[in-house]
Amino acid sequence: MYEISLSNSLSKAILKLCSNAGFDRVKRILIKIGGIRKVNPELMAFVFAGLTKNTPAEGAVLSVMMIPLTLKCNSCGRVASREDSELTCPSCGSRSVQILSGLELSIEGLEVEKDFYKHE
Ligand SMILES: [Zn+2]
Repeated sequence: MYEISLSNSLSKAILKLCSNAGFDRVKRILIKIGGIRKVNPELMAFVFAGLTKNTPAEGAVLSVMMIPLTLKCNSCGRVASREDSELTCPSCGSRSVQILSGLELSIEGLEVEKDFYKHE
């Protein structure tokens, strides 16, 4: 399942960020995923929760923004988004298309707490 490898690299990236920046607790993570990647956000959140147990990202809410796959056809010139991840024009069936969006995979934002474990 793609969600496992994706959650794995995401949790590694987050935990690295935490140790570099000194974040003690991550409350929310906003990620963008392009439609071509066919990710199930619920499954991804579930896998991510399991991977981040006993880390600063434990219990963090994973907000996934799915970016639809949008294609521009080189044959008929139409711009259309696709629900599936077929790289063909939905109007004329041409395989000569440009991908305008849908390839995204990025961490857009983090809500964190510093010094969460410091009680003075
Ligand atoms: Zn077309």
